[in-house]
Amino acid sequence: MFYIIIDYTKSPVLGAFLFIKIMTNRTLILGEISDEIQKHKSDLMNVLKRYLPLIAVEYCSELIILYKLHLHIEVERKDRLGDYHPHLGKGNRISINHNLNQYDFLITFIHELAHHVTYKKSGNKHQPHGDEWKENFKICMRPVVRMKFFPPEIELHLIRHMRSPKYTHSGDIELMKSVMKYDKEKKYFILDNLEKGAHFKMSNRSKIVLSKGEKKTYIC
Ligand SMILES: [Zn+2]
Repeated sequence: MFYIIIDYTKSPVLGAFLFIKIMTNRTLILGEISDEIQKHKSDLMNVLKRYLPLIAVEYCSELIILYKLHLHIEVERKDRLGDYHPHLGKGNRISINHNLNQYDFLITFIHELAHHVTYKKSGNKHQPHGDEWKENFKICMRPVVRMKFFPPEIELHLIRHMRSPKYTHSGDIELMKSVMKYDKEKKYFILDNLEKGAHFKMSNRSKIVLSKGEKKTYIC
């Protein structure tokens, strides 16, 4: 099977047009790739199928090749789901926590990819989660949503979230509730279910009392 990878970031309008064509023809083309790159792609797919929805594995593997990214699967970091480091001359590094469920992993991958696209366009002259990143995050997420890589409930909340994406999708309670359903073990705790005045401990052992109006998601 051939697969098309379109760099939507270079021409969103052309990208949207070509995407319609792909969906109409059901033809997926990468173009000519060497045996070496084909081998690299197979190796990537073998790893990524453990972390991503199967339907997204080939697309994401080709994005990694297209953008010459180094993907690091990391042990869990309490303060982040993933991160991005531009390494001049050494490839650009995306890291993602190993214990995210497949849909959390996919959203985080696209989030970090948007950092790379923003870096390529603007260098260091932008806010990390400012307007340029938000725009690129939307552009990078668009084909992923259109190709139906997410279950309908996540897709619904993700589309809403993408109207004004936050620096972390874990701050969007409705989106996270739909994503958390696919967790094998509990990583997030949503305060909606607690009574006002309830005491709880953060993972850094600080005690918090829930007061009126506070409803937030914490990674604990
Ligand atoms: Zn970020």
